[in-house]
Amino acid sequence: AAKLAGKNIFRFFDPAHDRSIRGFHENIACLSEALTEHEFELYYQPKVNLASREVVGFEALIRWNHPEKGVLTPGHFLPDIEGNMLMVEIGAWTIRQSLMQLEHWQRSGLYAPISVNISAIHLQQKNFMDALEAILLDFPSVEPKYLEFEVLETSAIENIEQVQLIIRHCNDLGIGFAIDDFGTGYASLSYLRNIPAKTIKIDQSFVKNMGDESEDRLILVGVIGLAKAFRKSIIAEGLEDMQYANLLLELGCECAQGYGIAYPMRAEDIPAWTEEWRSEALLAHGYFN
Ligand code: C2E
Ligand code: MG
Ligand code: MG
Ligand code: MG
Repeated sequence: AAKLAGKNIFRFFDPAHDRSIRGFHENIACLSEALTEHEFELYYQPKVNLASREVVGFEALIRWNHPEKGVLTPGHFLPDIEGNMLMVEIGAWTIRQSLMQLEHWQRSGLYAPISVNISAIHLQQKNFMDALEAILLDFPSVEPKYLEFEVLETSAIENIEQVQLIIRHCNDLGIGFAIDDFGTGYASLSYLRNIPAKTIKIDQSFVKNMGDESEDRLILVGVIGLAKAFRKSIIAEGLEDMQYANLLLELGCECAQGYGIAYPMRAEDIPAWTEEWRSEALLAHGYFN
């Protein structure tokens, strides 16, 4: 038996295998430390209504202020912990941080919802609702309707019945859901009717190339029509060129988010941006003429 165990141990320490495992654990340890060392920060990107020019909300986007590498976007570190429990901890931190931000902004008179990206593993935790309600209790002054969740189409679909229940439960509390990166998943159409999400976020890949008479443009038209048929709100992601704003409006999509409107920014820059956007909106509507 000892020999067998030895064999197993030997196999476990296969060099190539070992390297990948060590890398994985090192990444988890680093990110776990980043969380306790307060190296994560939420940036916020405005979402606006292109017709009314109203600010309809802000999406919270995580950044890692890495001590050596500087500000890292989630593409550099979230894939390392996808499916790991650390993702759940970071998710809980993100919700708490967003509620803190809402409380802070609302105290100074800024009222707009914050949407938080929720990972599949977080959403599938058995105690997701209990944990959420516990966090909400810590922020009694913030109405839950100012919090929204974004889930990837694929993560909503994989566990449809459980996710349906959670979304309904959240809706009862006043928290709406958006399906993120819509159009990039694999079962978009038939599942739309089964997901009680209020909003569809059209993936930026379709928005980027809508200018020409491309297939992406046709997909955009189709998705907007579909969203309307299912009475969902719709928002276009990745609007980089404001020249396309009118085209989006013509296609029936009123809300958008993207570098053409504003880059994700630090929380402290949001109030000034909002004030400027609102005064420009008033000017554009001729109130000051
Ligand atoms: P997402 O939720 O689809 O967020 C939109 C991404 O597109 C953000 O990238 C944003 O900075 C970027 N973006 C916004 N406007 C434009 C534009 O006009 N052009 C282009 N090219 N990009 C634009 P970011 O911040 O790097 O986040 C990437 C993804 O990481 C997010 O995609 C989301 O899925 C995930 N993520 C971000 N923050 C969190 C978080 O706190 N928790 C979880 N679980 N995931 C997060
Ligand atoms: Mg998102
Ligand atoms: Mg997206
Ligand atoms: Mg995305």
